[in-house]
This record gives sequence, C-alpha cells and structure tokens, in this order.
Amino acid sequence: MEDRYGHRISYLRVSITDRCNERCAYCMPVEEQEWLPRAEVLRYEEILRVIRVGAGLGIRKVRVTGGEPLTRRDVLWFFEQLGRIGGLDDIGISTNGTLLGRPATEDGADSPTVADRLRRSGVRTANISLDTLDRETYARAAGRDFLPQALAGIEAARAAGFDAVKMNTVLMRGQNEHELWDLVDFARERDLLLRFIELMPVSTTQVLTDENFLPFGEAKKLIEFKFGPLEPLPEFRTNGPATYYRVAKTGQKLGFIGAMTNLHFCETCNKLRLTCEGKLRPCLGSHLEFDLRAVLRDPAATDDDLARFFREVVDRKPEQHEFRENYQPERRMIAIGG
Ligand code: SAM
Ligand code: SF4
Repeated sequence: MEDRYGHRISYLRVSITDRCNERCAYCMPVEEQEWLPRAEVLRYEEILRVIRVGAGLGIRKVRVTGGEPLTRRDVLWFFEQLGRIGGLDDIGISTNGTLLGRPATEDGADSPTVADRLRRSGVRTANISLDTLDRETYARAAGRDFLPQALAGIEAARAAGFDAVKMNTVLMRGQNEHELWDLVDFARERDLLLRFIELMPVSTTQVLTDENFLPFGEAKKLIEFKFGPLEPLPEFRTNGPATYYRVAKTGQKLGFIGAMTNLHFCETCNKLRLTCEGKLRPCLGSHLEFDLRAVLRDPAATDDDLARFFREVVDRKPEQHEFRENYQPERRMIAIGG
C-alpha cells in the first residue's frame, strides 16, 4: 500500500486496550480516567482479523501497544495467535515493563516469565518505557511506585532473548534532564537500544509547556558534554521515525525521536494505527480517524470490504503531522495507542 505522497505502508501499530496500571501525566489526564465499556473495545478475534487482512495488503510489522497491553486479560493467548499469522516479519510490543518479569503460569519458581512467553510466541522486539532511574521521580511521573517492577521487567526481557530490547525515554525538562547521562550508562551496560522521545501534544495541554519541553537538540548537547561527539548514523533505521547517532568513544547507538523539532520527521513514515475501539488512524498527529469497527461488525462485510477500507484510509494519510500547528489533542495518547 502506498499513499499519495509515496509513503509505503508496512507497519501497523495496534492498541489492544485503553487501560493501564500506571498514570503517566503526559499520556493520560490527571482527572480520573473513564475506561471504554468492554463492548466498544475490539475482541481479540476482531483484532486478529484486521491484522490478517493487513498482512495480505503488505503489512509486515505489527507492534502491540495500549494503554498497557499486558494488563489485558488472556493477552498471552492473543500473542500466540498473532505469532501464527503468516506474512509478518516482525512482531513487537510496547510496554512499561512492569508485568514482564511476572510468572506466566502458576508453577512457582519453574514458571516462565511473561517475557519468555512473549518471546516464544514470536515477539521479536520489546520496547520498554523508562524515563528515570530514581524511584521517587518514577512514582511521581508514573503515578505508581513501580520502578522495581519495571527494572525487573527489563531484566526478564533481556533474559528472554528478544532480538532487541529497546528503551524509550520521554525527555522532560526539570524531571529527567539531569539523569540523561545515567540513563545512557544504564542502557549501554545492559545492551538496550536507548531512544529519547520529545514530548508530544497528546496529553492535557498543561503537560506540554515550554517549562517541560526538552528539545532533542538540547538533550544531544548535554549528552555530548559528557560522552563526547555523537556521530550521525543516517543509514541505521529501525522501522520507525528515530534518527540514530553513535557515541564515538564507546560505539553505543542512541536514537532521538523528535516529532516537534525534526522537520523531516514524517518523510519515512510507514505506519497506520488501530485504536482499541477499532478506529484506523493514518497519523498520530492528525485528528483523522476512520471507524473500521463498523465494517468489522457488519455481518455482511467480507475481508475484501475490510481491505478496501484499509486502502481508503491509506489514501487519506496526510503528508505530515499537525503537531506544530497548534494541535489541540482531542484524544490522549492512552486512548490512541502510543
Ligand atoms: N504502556 C506502554 C508504555 O508505556 O510503553 C505502551 C503505551 S505508551 C502510550 C507508548 C509510548 O508513548 C511510551 O514510550 C510513552 O512514554 C510514550 N508517550 C506517551 N505519552 C506521550 C507524550 N505526550 N509525548 C511523547 N511520548 C509519549
Ligand atoms: Fe500507561 Fe504507558 Fe501511558 Fe504510562 S505511557 S500511562 S505506562 S500507557
């Protein structure tokens, strides 16, 4: 599938829940969140059907996200089914990591971890969010005192043998600015591919203020101050919008995802998103979304109808996001699927 601007669509980001065991302020509103009623959320069978149709249209990579995907009931069953879909080259998960180290069965010490089971189902990459190594900062930022669980989850992911474990860190001035060096060391020591993400306007507007926003150029300078020059790696890509650099002294690769300040951010976009209630979204930073659930739940609709719908959505994909044009979020990240 190719859109009007020559973007080749091969990547589907699938949110399976709007629920989460954490409360990151940049992702969900501070006010008590109302979860979607269960009937509005796509059933696993419906999600798998969409992915099967997508695979037939050239989707090669699926990343499962949320909310926190691992909070959804029977999620390991879902991943097993996902791993059986033909045509996908890469399956990934985005997670806060807190549940990865849990036993997947009730066999006590002999039980594989959730991470082991994901790996066994065919998940190749685990993207784990970690913004800070300080327990108090974590508890404040995530609304839950879960740093020990997140760290255990990272260890479980490393032990599970994924092709890659990536660490995603949202840059926040005043919150983790002074920890960037420690985060870089932490990732290098554990062989995690660290990517720094600029805050995006997909949360309540009071979160994305000039006081909180730390542009990637500034973070890069701070890192260079301690680690020496970062050399651009224009050839190194990981199927997403990150720009990669190499710390000349140590060889460590670092990614920067700068939706706000990188003016070429959308040029290589290859992505569509499926929200947990079945909206197909051609771009995170545009209000456009299309109700695939209505087609899915129409008993007369065939897979060909779904495929036609996919193509129409790809045709409506905007050239670039609207984050810089006073984008006002109507939906929080948690409701779209990050
Ligand atoms: N719960 C999982 C997690 O935290 O990784 C998956 C969903 S979360 C919405 C996916 C990613 O979006 C996380 O790395 C999170 O840090 C990032 N994110 C959420 N809100 C954001 C915002 N306003 N700006 C930039 N990144 C954001
Ligand atoms: Fe939950 Fe992830 Fe959003 Fe934090 S970023 S509230 S962990 S979905």
